[in-house]
Amino acid sequence: MSAVGQFLDETKALACVHCGLCLSSCPTYLETGNENDSPRGRIYIMRAMQSGQLGVEAAAVRHIDLCLGCRACESACPSGVQYGTLLEETRDHIEKHHGRGLFQWFLRRLVIGQVFPFPWRMRLALLPVRAIRFLRFGFLLPKFAREMMELLPQRLARGKLPAKRLAKGVARGQVGFIEGCVMQVMFGDTNESSAELLNRDGWDVLTPKGQGCCGALHAHSGQLAKARDCARRNIAAFENEPLDAIIINAAGCGSTLVEYGELLKDDPAWAERAEAFSAKVKDLVSWLDGSRFPVSGSGAKVTYHDACHLAHAQGITIEPRELVKAKSGEEFVELAESDLCCGSAGSYNLTEPEMASRLQKRKVQNIIDSGAEVVVTTNPGCLLQIQSGLRKAGAHHIRAVHIADYLLEGDMVGN
Ligand code: SF4
Ligand code: SF4
Repeated sequence: MSAVGQFLDETKALACVHCGLCLSSCPTYLETGNENDSPRGRIYIMRAMQSGQLGVEAAAVRHIDLCLGCRACESACPSGVQYGTLLEETRDHIEKHHGRGLFQWFLRRLVIGQVFPFPWRMRLALLPVRAIRFLRFGFLLPKFAREMMELLPQRLARGKLPAKRLAKGVARGQVGFIEGCVMQVMFGDTNESSAELLNRDGWDVLTPKGQGCCGALHAHSGQLAKARDCARRNIAAFENEPLDAIIINAAGCGSTLVEYGELLKDDPAWAERAEAFSAKVKDLVSWLDGSRFPVSGSGAKVTYHDACHLAHAQGITIEPRELVKAKSGEEFVELAESDLCCGSAGSYNLTEPEMASRLQKRKVQNIIDSGAEVVVTTNPGCLLQIQSGLRKAGAHHIRAVHIADYLLEGDMVGN
């Protein structure tokens, strides 16, 4: 099928000077060695689609589908190419002009589009999973369903935060907290840990009830109109509260929240409000005061995996390491290829399980080789992917934990 139309910001697309310096950072290029699976090759494909030289046809779509959206290419690019925006615009165009097979349609439109962004629907969908696990009937499921179940944590800790949690001692100010969809359904205890850390750091924590999905899953899967609706809802939920910052503890959500300004730039009623919202968004790790966390000397060797949407999309790599090192002291070890995608990439491990599995194995091998007993990260998708990979590899002696839970282990956080 052919479709011509101006879906790309041409200036952003032309910023690529084809130097190729991004190639060695691209996980899919490293795995396939195919230029069409590299950032430079994909930008060629996007521009050819825009000019009409290339239709929205299966072969071209395949190379765009295989992109993780990890944005490692942005970190490597000397020309400042905003690859993430180009990718979202291209995927939005593809979803409007390309017919998906039934299975991909079911995954993308129903599971990812209609279940994941709604915590209550996700809780409902997880009920049969709990029953199957309890009855040990998993072996009866088709391979795909078994793999999906394998990604889920052994223990689902759901939980809602109260509307307000008060600072311990004298309050330094007030922050808003984004609960996240996956976070509140599967990692409710991590949200608790995050709020506890903020309280101990001197912040009242407000969790406005009107908030909803950040829109990341929609934006990454070519549903920009839905992502914009999510953005408007969250801006309205937070903008009337007197807040010093809006805190997020999921890197994948954070990278979308800090880009609401870009997402709504063409909407005159919301553009300014979106910029104001995004300016307040901070990842938990860049907001906490690391100097308030004493060394615990727990003795466990610890390493750190950079979530792509924290390291590449938000450029945050130093602060989480400082926090982890403040607790682990001499026991911290760097991870080889720490900022190479683990294969989770939002919902990528569902839509592209083969490449996701290759990257999962590569990540897990690096973790095992580091000798660490704990791997800390900052994103629920990475946690699920790494935990599942460690189980598959039989590396039961290694734990993957969210940084908020890690900092509170042994209750050694400042006072
Ligand atoms: S976003 Fe990641 S997978 Fe996609 S082209 Fe860039 S580096 Fe490669
Ligand atoms: S995206 Fe950046 S690094 Fe990659 S080829 Fe283009 S200009 Fe070079």
